[in-house]
Amino acid sequence: MTAETMAAETGRDFIRDIVQADLDAGKYRQIVTRFPPEPNGYLHIGHAKSIALNFGIAQEFAGRCHLRFDDTNPTKEEQEYIDSIQADVRWLGYDWGTDLYYASDYFERLYEWAEGLIRSGHAYVDDQSQEEIRLTRGTLTEPGKNSPFRDRSVDENLDLFRRMKSGEFPNGARVLRAKIDMSAGNINLRDPVLYRILHATHPRTGDSWSIYPSYDYAHGQSDAIEGITHSICTLEFEDHRPLYEWLLERLPVPSKPRQYEMARLNLTYTLLSKRVLTELVRGGHVAGWDDPRMPTIAGLKRRGVPPAAIREFIKRIGVAKANSVVDVGMLEFCIREDLNRSSLRRMAVLRPLKVVIENYPEGQSEELEAVNHPDDPAAGTRKIAFGRELYIERDDFMENPPKKFFRLSPGTEVRLRYAYFIKCTGVIKDAAGEVVELRCTYDPETRGGNAPDNRKVKATMHWLSAAHSLPAEIRIYNPLFAKPNPDAGNFAADLNPQSLEVLTDARIEPAISATNSTDVVQFERQGYFVRDADSVPDHLVFTRTIGLRDTFAKEVGGKT
Ligand code: ATP
Ligand code: MG
Repeated sequence: MTAETMAAETGRDFIRDIVQADLDAGKYRQIVTRFPPEPNGYLHIGHAKSIALNFGIAQEFAGRCHLRFDDTNPTKEEQEYIDSIQADVRWLGYDWGTDLYYASDYFERLYEWAEGLIRSGHAYVDDQSQEEIRLTRGTLTEPGKNSPFRDRSVDENLDLFRRMKSGEFPNGARVLRAKIDMSAGNINLRDPVLYRILHATHPRTGDSWSIYPSYDYAHGQSDAIEGITHSICTLEFEDHRPLYEWLLERLPVPSKPRQYEMARLNLTYTLLSKRVLTELVRGGHVAGWDDPRMPTIAGLKRRGVPPAAIREFIKRIGVAKANSVVDVGMLEFCIREDLNRSSLRRMAVLRPLKVVIENYPEGQSEELEAVNHPDDPAAGTRKIAFGRELYIERDDFMENPPKKFFRLSPGTEVRLRYAYFIKCTGVIKDAAGEVVELRCTYDPETRGGNAPDNRKVKATMHWLSAAHSLPAEIRIYNPLFAKPNPDAGNFAADLNPQSLEVLTDARIEPAISATNSTDVVQFERQGYFVRDADSVPDHLVFTRTIGLRDTFAKEVGGKT
């Protein structure tokens, strides 16, 4: 059994096993985890994995999970991101209670501790440029070179560090480095940078700081200040763990958290790097962070994906120690499974073709009964209007059908769902030879969709009354990338030119416009759709959440 299938079946994984063992051993009174986003972009589905794990563990083991903004780089961070991250975590169904923190709240303490490292001979101010530091760091096979500034006296280091803090030097002039070992096998231990000079306005601390701590320095100490017991991060940080521990051992921290690493989530047809997502937005490749094609939480929300489907997906993929790429079909499967259960059925005609029922009296109409959910009688029924002029889906008619086409064509009979059997008796074309209208007859004996003589038809089609339906714009979203493994380095080349298709003359049932805008509905035979925020009262816009066809089901054995 793989880690993934085990997680799906037991809800357990190696991290939960560690937490359970620590509790059994009486190591902690309470488990404390944290989700530590950097507010430099919107959250994506990869973050949802980390959120579900950290908040999920806190819930399951009666612990707490902190939301901590890792706001140590003011050049990239914005209040908009801080706000969106909080909204998205809540929308996913998680709650940090009163445990909302910012690494910037600890800047003063982190600074004092850095002075402490200087005093104990564990840190020094380096005047080398960023480039010189990079060039003297060595490689995996060669040791690095000591900086000529490595042996400065404590007093000189303190003086320079204080002047860095007071803003005396320009960006990049100096850094504070930990004094560890330039020949360490682990490059992260070759005198890593703890502070850099950055003259930038911070969203929370304004202009009060001219130096900012590095991720490695701020992160572990923030964990320790907050009493985090299990600090979960992704595998790239495995090699940073010795540094995480080196710092905790040398600083007067109030607790000793432990770091654990798990695989990050990767998805086919998707890029989950904040750099790429930012460029997609800035470069106008998508309409914004909440574009329904984006793998962001805001995008998934706007697309109509229920948070429960995301949580189920995360549960199914589990938590493993080896990186892998998950088939996006797995996410789609979870979305369909949820929506199939939860969404009401409605009719909409996406690409309308007009049908005139010649033997139906002009000016007459009637109401027929349609069920709202085939598996849920409690969802009730609704009335739909039928009349002489109808719309059917253009694709449901062919004038010269091939053998296997069972829908409407001249002379064939089909069922209009919940209504009548109709037969095509004539085709009207425009000057260009395009079919613009069908003439049909209906059989009044088949009201409700069944013939008294039990005669069968090969197709049941959706339809709408021309006079009673409403116009709508429908946006069909397809994968943003055309390749299963898009190239993050040159993503523009892999964009899917057909990722958005806009249908401007669609028709919908009036009952759809009455549904609450956050409710996803199933357009029968078409897929799941949600009212888009771009809708205004006389211009309704619907977004396709997902089509009905279940390509993933084939791979997992036909289960829907
Ligand atoms: P970048 O995309 O620039 O590498 P990031 O995704 O690491 O940045 P953070 O804001 O630092 O951005 O992430 C917050 C938390 O979410 C971190 O603990 C990180 O490990 C986790 N995380 C980020 N991406 C993924 C992913 N794809 N799968 C699982 N966890 C992730
Ligand atoms: Mg990160």
